[in-house]
Parts: sequence; C-alpha cells; structure tokens
Amino acid sequence: MAAAAPVPKLPAPAVADPALSARRLADLRNRVEGCHQCSLGETRTSTVFGSGSPEARLMFVGEAPGYHEDQQGRPFVGQAGKLLDKLLARIDLTRDEVFIANVLKCRPPENRDPQSEEIGLCREFLEQQIEIIEPLVICTLGNFATKLLTGKPDGISRVHGCPQEMQGHAKIKLFPVYHPAAALYTPSNLKALEADFDLLPELLGDFVPQPLVETIPVESELGVEKTDTQPEPEQLGLF
Ligand code: URA
Repeated sequence: MAAAAPVPKLPAPAVADPALSARRLADLRNRVEGCHQCSLGETRTSTVFGSGSPEARLMFVGEAPGYHEDQQGRPFVGQAGKLLDKLLARIDLTRDEVFIANVLKCRPPENRDPQSEEIGLCREFLEQQIEIIEPLVICTLGNFATKLLTGKPDGISRVHGCPQEMQGHAKIKLFPVYHPAAALYTPSNLKALEADFDLLPELLGDFVPQPLVETIPVESELGVEKTDTQPEPEQLGLF
C-alpha cells in the first residue's frame, strides 16, 4: 500500500512584528513630513503624524490638528486632548497603549473644516497607518473620521456607539463616538461619549465577567433604607 501523502502544512498565522511595524511607521512619518501635496503644506508649522503604540489594539482617528497640535507636532494636546486622556483613564488605558491619528496631518488655517480635496490627498497616509498597526478597534472621533472610514454619509449623532465592520478589513471594528471637542461644552454629548467609551473594553475583548453573587443580603441586614434612585455616575470635572 502506498504511503499516505503528507498533510500539507497550513501557513503560519501572520504574527505582527513590533520592530517592523515601528520601522514602517517611521518611514511613513518621514513621507508625511515631506508632504506638500496640498496647500496645507505651505501654512503648517509642523505635520502631526500621530502618536502611540505601533502594536495598539485600539486606534483613535480625529479630524485635524488644531493650533497647539500644529505648534507641538503631536495630536490632541489641547483641551479636547485633556478630555481624551480622562476618557482613556476611565477605561484603564494610557496614550502609550493606543494610537492616536487624524484624518488630516496638517492644520487647516483658522481650524476651518477639512476640504474634500485635502481629505482625498491625505487619506492614503491614514490607510497606511491602519494597515501597519492593524488595530482591533478604530474609534472614529466625530463626523469627518466617521464618514471617511465608514464610507457612509450617516452623521455622528445617528451612529455613535454602534460598532460596525470596516469595509475591506473584516477583522477591524469601527466604533464611532462624538469628537471630544463636541463634548467639552455640551453635557449631553459628554454623557454619550462616556457611555460609548464604557463599551470599549468589551469590544476589545477585555470584558471580565463578574463572579456570581451567591447570597444577596437583605436591606435590613445592611442597615440601609431601600431607595429607587441610583447614584449618579461620576462626571468628568470639566464644568
Ligand atoms: N482635534 C482633532 O481632531 N485632532 C487633534 O489632533 C486635536 C484636536
């Protein structure tokens, strides 16, 4: 009897190489720094490539650098960035564990809205960042990032908090949330943003089921009055 043909070996699953990702990001950063494809290249002080871990499982995509980001060359360093830091702390993460990028890598003058031509020219950089980092979840901050990456016209107030698959990247979930700047002075947006952030650990697979409580003490044993009102969740101290 002929010997059985050897079972063909399956290709090894692709293992991300952090050093390679870091090198590829550094090369891409150099390309961004030399970019003069649109007129923002003439008015910027510095490019804002993005910052964080090349191995991030969670990536944030904002709109475009503002005044402080343009001065410092880093994303989200102003008031909206301070709020983003607090939201990250709320889910036990730091900037070093995520990657923060923007749709545009240069500041539009007077912080005007990004123009479609600028978005079209700059999107290649964002797409390459996503391809290198391969996050599990991309949190799009506000309308511009959400519309660009979902490819749909639905605005943020309609789709925030609803995870969706990213076209062409079956393994990446898009998770639209309000832009932190939109939550700075509008308490209802802040509440929605906090509630959406609270869903992120589960989306990332970090959900830790609570152990089942075997015995529930009755109120008389606890010495407390029964009340219908739940304590308010902690507010960020912005107002
Ligand atoms: N707003 C953004 O969208 N991006 C930044 O980097 C800062 C503020």
